[in-house]
This record gives sequence, C-alpha cells and structure tokens, in this order.
Amino acid sequence: MKPFSYVNPTNEKDAVAALSPEYEKALPLAGGQDLLARMKDYVTQPDRIVNVKNALDATVTPASGGLRIGAAMKMVDLAEHAEVGRMYPAVAAAAIEVGTPQIRHQGTVGGNLNQRPRCWYYRNEEFVCFKKGGNTCFSPAGENQFHAIFGGGPTFIVHPSSLAVPFVAYHATFRLLGPKGERLVPAAEYFTMPNLQNIQRENVLQPDELLTHVILPAPGNVKSGHYEVRYKASHDWPIAFATVLLTMTGSTVQGARVVMGAVAPVPWRSQAAEQALAGRTITPEVAAAAAEAALRGAMPLSQNAYKIQVAKTAVERAILQAAGLPIA
Ligand SMILES: Cc1cc2nc3c(=O)[nH]c(=O)nc-3n(C[C@H](O)[C@H](O)[C@H](O)COP(=O)(O)OP(=O)(O)OC[C@H]3O[C@@H](n4cnc5c(N)ncnc54)[C@H](O)[C@@H]3O)c2cc1C
Repeated sequence: MKPFSYVNPTNEKDAVAALSPEYEKALPLAGGQDLLARMKDYVTQPDRIVNVKNALDATVTPASGGLRIGAAMKMVDLAEHAEVGRMYPAVAAAAIEVGTPQIRHQGTVGGNLNQRPRCWYYRNEEFVCFKKGGNTCFSPAGENQFHAIFGGGPTFIVHPSSLAVPFVAYHATFRLLGPKGERLVPAAEYFTMPNLQNIQRENVLQPDELLTHVILPAPGNVKSGHYEVRYKASHDWPIAFATVLLTMTGSTVQGARVVMGAVAPVPWRSQAAEQALAGRTITPEVAAAAAEAALRGAMPLSQNAYKIQVAKTAVERAILQAAGLPIA
C-alpha cells in the first residue's frame, strides 16, 4: 500500500481543514469498510486520511418537527433509534438490512452515503475505467448482471447506498461543510447522474467538504413501505429495492413518493408510479399497475433484463406494505 499520513481531528472545522481541494488526495475515514478496502485493492491511493469519527456528530437530535442525524452515527444505532423507527420507519428498515451486524456496527451514515460503486470493473485495479480516469466503461460489453437498467451511460453503475433511497423519499437535506462554510443540499440533488464532466464522482460533494448531517423534515401523515430483494438473506447488496411513501385521506392516496434503489446511478424516483397511485385506493391490482409504470422505460444491458421483474416486485410489495395489505 502507498504510504499515507493520518490525521485525527476532534472537531468538524479541523477535519475540513485537513482535507484538500485536490480530488482523492486527502479522504475522510469513517468506519473504513469501503475506504480501506479500496486502498488495499489499489483502487484509491490518498496521501492523507482524515479520521472523522471523533470530529463529526454521531447523535440524533430534534429539528423543526423532524430529526437531524449526525454523519458519524453508526448504522446499528440508526436502525435501533426509537424516534427514527417511529417517525421514519423506511429509514430504520433500510438501515437494519445493510450488510451484516458487524458492518452495521462499524459503518456510519456518512460512509454509507458516500461509499463508492460496487462495480467489479471499478473495484479491480486492472481495469482503468471512467471512474479511475480512463476513457471507457467496461460493463456494456462485459459482465453487467448487477448494473443499471435506468439512466446508464457513460457509466452504468448503480448507486450502492441503501440509506440514500429512503432519505430521498423523505425529502431529507444533507448539510455539507467546507472551507467556505456550510451548504444545505436536498438529498435528491446530492447524487449526480454520470456525465463526462463529473464522471469520477457520484455526488456534488467537493473534495474539501464533509457531509456532516442528514436533516429529515417532519414526516407528516405518511405510511411507508420498504422492500429489498437480494440473492441471499445474509450479507449482500440488494439486486433492487424500493421505498414507497403514501399520504392518505381515509383509504384514498393523496400523494405518493416512489423511489427505487440499485437500478440506476442515483436513487431513482418514479413519477409515473406516483401518478398511478394518486387518487386511488390501494388494491393488489393498483399496486401491480403502479409497479408496471415504475419500470416502463427501463433499458437493460445484455445480462440484467431480469432486474426489471425484480424491481417491479420490490415496488409492488413496498406499496402493499405501505397500505398495510398482505404481500402475496
Ligand atoms: C459484505 C458487505 C455487504 C454490504 N451490504 C450493503 C448493503 O446492503 N447496503 C449498503 O448500503 N451498503 C452495504 N455495504 C457497504 C457498507 O454499508 C459500507 O461500506 C459502509 O456503510 C461504509 O461506511 P463506513 O463508515 O465504513 O465508510 P468509510 O469506508 O469510512 O467511507 C466510505 C467513503 O465515504 C467517504 N466518507 C466517509 N464519511 C464521510 C463524510 N462524513 N463525508 C464525506 N465523505 C465521507 C470516505 O472517504 C470513503 O470514500 C456492504 C458492505 C459489505 C462488505
């Protein structure tokens, strides 16, 4: 491994000061499960790592009827937090399904949201793809069974964070801190689609900024469903998953929010599915029609057309769950 220096700041200002405006020169270290693995695999080779675990907030505090979650909070603490579970059940559901107990005890909210793609070409030092400064994406002509079915090109990664999807669904805002101060970015605008200007990145965070907090607004009167489909029930990323939020008046859906994960380079919102639910009473047929609408327009690669049905099932079941109906 390339030698690197280690900085251990005790407040967020010093942590930001230890970063660098140069891409991947100095990187924040939280639980280290993604960063250290990338360093050991020669995928990322920073000159300096900045431990943020002693610098960033790791608590949940009330904020204007909602909650403010510190980026250093462990995923296990998020999953088990009573107020998070009561106010934002889909966030708790996503957190409890991440990886294994060991991963949830070590991994943080900030690390989860900023983890890099799991694409096997990106993770292999031999493949110099767009993400590593190369000029191609190997997945369209290669092994692409877990890649994007929406929004792909020039790269076809899917965003790896399970927490990102419910945070987008609940209209969370991320607090970022940099040398010029803080800025607040809606979760839906934080994650970026690949384009040739920002091809190495998955979000708007600058190299000398930290994500310090996730701010969740008051949830209102919403019912939620969160459904993930995996190859195996133990440690793995989902093949596809969905968070669904329904605002109900009696048994009628006033408004819906449908966001899918592991299908696109960003959490993928389906307005078509939301429209298919608005004004309706949820029945199995309505849920199936909305799921059908959610996957309309999917553009699978050579080996991942099966993900369309998997994602459809995830959306349909998340809708049924939100409506309190049994999953067949
Ligand atoms: C077997 C296995 C299964 C897994 N399954 C899932 C799954 O189902 N769902 C899922 O979402 N994840 C899954 N993961 C990934 C795991 O959740 C992440 O690796 C972990 O959440 C990363 O958190 P960390 O605190 O260890 O991050 P680190 O490795 O410390 O950091 C990750 C990245 O984020 C950056 N970073 C860290 N904190 C901040 C911050 N505050 N601001 C800005 N940048 C920051 C780091 O520089 C680094 O690039 C799995 C991992 C494994 C090994």
